[in-house]
Amino acid sequence: MVVGKPFLTEEEIQAKVRELAGRISRDYEGREPLMVGLLKGAFMFFSDLVRHIRVPLTIDFITASSYAKADTTGEVKIHCDMREEIEDRDVILVEDIVDTGITLNYLRERMLTRTPRSLKICALLDKKERRIVDVPVDYRGFEIPNEYVVGYGLDYDNKYRNLPYIAIFKRSD
Ligand code: 5GP
Repeated sequence: MVVGKPFLTEEEIQAKVRELAGRISRDYEGREPLMVGLLKGAFMFFSDLVRHIRVPLTIDFITASSYAKADTTGEVKIHCDMREEIEDRDVILVEDIVDTGITLNYLRERMLTRTPRSLKICALLDKKERRIVDVPVDYRGFEIPNEYVVGYGLDYDNKYRNLPYIAIFKRSD
């Protein structure tokens, strides 16, 4: 397995993060959003994003993984749930990448049962052509082709998360 040259450079990612943070800061003027990061993949994006947001906010995390099955809605397992109450709060769920949409859709539906005042989704990457479940992405960084990517929080076998850029991961054979 090999990691290719940067597909999205550190500079491109940081410029996009600042752009998304600017939009969120404007949209949430006068409010105090609860930002919920989806671990582990969103850890780097999340920390860069919140440091550029100019409204007061609180943070929390969910650790979850999905086991997609070809033609079903798959299964999502929550390993560690959030601790903040979300009732009547303006929640922004922050994800590294939306692929089939199964994970986000599951978490979104689950959160909506707890009646937040609002719930928006922010994802750095979107592999739209892979979508199985239609889930609204309110703040989208980059739309990318159907390739497996690593870096900037995203892993292969829990490795490569520390790369400051995003690269396409290929089999070497
Ligand atoms: P979904 O439920 O949308 O199919 O999957 C979302 C999750 O799948 C992401 O949070 C991420 O953990 C994983 N994933 C999907 N595509 C990729 C990819 O290209 N690279 C990596 N490293 N993870 C991916």
